[in-house]
Amino acid sequence: MTAALPYSNGLLHVGHIGGCYLPADIFVRYLRSRGDEVAFICGSDDHGVPVLLVARKEGKPPKEVADFYRALQQRHYEGLGIRFDIYSGTNTTEIHTEFSQHFFLRCLENGYLDKLTSQQLYDPESGMFLPDRYVEGVCHHCGSGGARGDQCDACGKLIEPTELIHPRSVITGATPEVRETVHWFFRLPDFEDRLRRWIQEHDEWRPMVRNFSLGLLGQGLPVRSITRDLDWGIPVPLPGDPDAKDKVMYVWFDAPIGYVSFTEQWCRRKGEEPGGYARWWKDPDCKIVHFIGEDNVIFHVLIWPAMLMAEGTFQLPHNVPANCYLNIQFPGEEETKMSTSRGTAVWIGDYLRDYPPDPLRYYLTAIAPERQRTAFKFEDLIRRNNEELVAALGNFVHRNVTFAHRYLGGEVPPRGEPTEQDRAQLAMVAGLPDRASALLEEYRFRDALQEVMAAARESNRYFDYRQPWALRKEDPSACGTVINVCLNTIKTLAVVMEPFLPFAAAKTASMLSAEPQEMVWSAGADPLPEGRTLGEPVILFEKLEARAGEGSPDS
Ligand SMILES: [Zn+2]
Repeated sequence: MTAALPYSNGLLHVGHIGGCYLPADIFVRYLRSRGDEVAFICGSDDHGVPVLLVARKEGKPPKEVADFYRALQQRHYEGLGIRFDIYSGTNTTEIHTEFSQHFFLRCLENGYLDKLTSQQLYDPESGMFLPDRYVEGVCHHCGSGGARGDQCDACGKLIEPTELIHPRSVITGATPEVRETVHWFFRLPDFEDRLRRWIQEHDEWRPMVRNFSLGLLGQGLPVRSITRDLDWGIPVPLPGDPDAKDKVMYVWFDAPIGYVSFTEQWCRRKGEEPGGYARWWKDPDCKIVHFIGEDNVIFHVLIWPAMLMAEGTFQLPHNVPANCYLNIQFPGEEETKMSTSRGTAVWIGDYLRDYPPDPLRYYLTAIAPERQRTAFKFEDLIRRNNEELVAALGNFVHRNVTFAHRYLGGEVPPRGEPTEQDRAQLAMVAGLPDRASALLEEYRFRDALQEVMAAARESNRYFDYRQPWALRKEDPSACGTVINVCLNTIKTLAVVMEPFLPFAAAKTASMLSAEPQEMVWSAGADPLPEGRTLGEPVILFEKLEARAGEGSPDS
């Protein structure tokens, strides 16, 4: 399991988290609960122009910038309960350099790289070539302004910098000139047929992922330059070739290789012999799943698989679940794109200073842009926390555990002869893990979470209907049965909510005095032993209030 490598040039906001890191973490937690062996691999994308631009602005060496933001990003993932097996960085390990150079040389040996003289934009004022984000202008595909030299955010297409309309150097603002330089080009068109067949075989993929990629294939893929005139990146490993001097690999060539090199780094940390990555990346019994955002589809569904085909010894991804963009809407304003430069986002560090992690995980899943773009509204997060997490899920757990402590000696009461309603409640809950599984297996995280919440609401209705507070005096045995049914419901709810709400699930398990092996997917509906002493009741979800000014661009 991988989640897209973020550039180590800035802070993470809720759009990043909802885009791929949270769904990946949910899926990993689910698979582990089910008993699968999973490696959850991520790290920062340290190379390329984005990090250089920040380094230039902050007057620091790029390595210092990358190390600083990588460490912050790592803290913010941890704060949200997103637990990678390894969070590395493409500039942190020699293993990554070795793997990247291996891929480059294999592609060259297999005849998929051409050395060509090409026209590149050059900034006469700063005296350097302007690859990728060093240049901006108007998109030559869709006419949107603010297109960067590597990709247009408006239409998602790749940009050929020399075709940008009104190009401008990001460093000096100068209009660039076109100069000749030598680069290595990846023969992407050679893979068109194989890519098309491979994508067409996967009709279970999300329609956005398939349609976007097949659409690009329909227009024909260009050859892509995979080297750059920069001194920040992985050196081109051709010491005998004078043209390779001062060239590094394009950041989008080395970045996805990070998934493999970080896997190897993780295996070695665990004390394995070199080559441990192959058990994951080359064994068809292992499935490779890349969680990404909308802007990364082109790289993960076309370019990266073509690189794997060119290298020739790796398996192809099993699925590439991509979310669409998550926009943001501030009170009284239009929905807008989240943007670091314009400050239109909610930053994870700011959020975690004031609020607990589960409500954000909940809200981001409940509005996940799985099929179309959606908008983050801070006041909606607060409202849904209070009306759904607190009033439905938290309330059901709390009212039963406190009831058992107050009236039943703090123990799981015995289950007597169940009524029709008791049986219906038990059957509803017994089916919950399978209903959620069926949706999770299809990467439908929103719908799976809705199953959990629907079960919690139905359970509250059952409690209200059976009125254990009245039964306590009239029919103590029936009262015990109701609370027994409810405590077992809570156990199943805790197992199925764990991927989404791990902090609340851990608190719930401790209220049930449950061992970890009781809280796995397959044991989720097994009954709690009667007579077990329960843990102290704790509040799962606090009622939240928006702080003054929260959710506005300046907060
Ligand atoms: Zn465009």
